[in-house]
Amino acid sequence: MDTQKARCVECRSEISVPGSYAHGDHVKCPTCGTRHKVVRSGEAVRLVLADITPLKEALRANEAQVSRLEAELRHARHSFRIGVNGIGFGVVYVVWQIALKERPIGTDLVWEAVGVAVLTGVLLELANFFFFAKRKQMSRLSREIEEVEAEGRALQQKLREASRV
Ligand SMILES: [Zn+2]
Repeated sequence: MDTQKARCVECRSEISVPGSYAHGDHVKCPTCGTRHKVVRSGEAVRLVLADITPLKEALRANEAQVSRLEAELRHARHSFRIGVNGIGFGVVYVVWQIALKERPIGTDLVWEAVGVAVLTGVLLELANFFFFAKRKQMSRLSREIEEVEAEGRALQQKLREASRV
């Protein structure tokens, strides 16, 4: 039987697997020292991790990170809603103040109207900035969750492969 090449699960460098190594035998990566088990299926040879403890630990850390990010996303969504309601109430209050003040039309009222227009403009600008920042934060968190979940799936895949031998 010939010596075959397989890749290290950890550092991806090539490892020579002599033909005398049977399915389930251990082989160490000469580059990083990670221990593997030999997986033979027909002619092909593959390596899986011999020690799955680090994988399990990485998976636990991964799951913890997902729940932390999800909590952060929930918090961001919540404060986003509060912000939307707050701005809404502010505008309603200003309109209500103007509508209910029955005063003769004069310079005072004109200046007040100008003031309200400026204030509303500033409020809307702030709202725009605030909503934009929040939306960005929320989509960043969603993206991060997707990435971490993909890592988790890759870890689970490695675990399944390593546990099968
Ligand atoms: Zn290696």
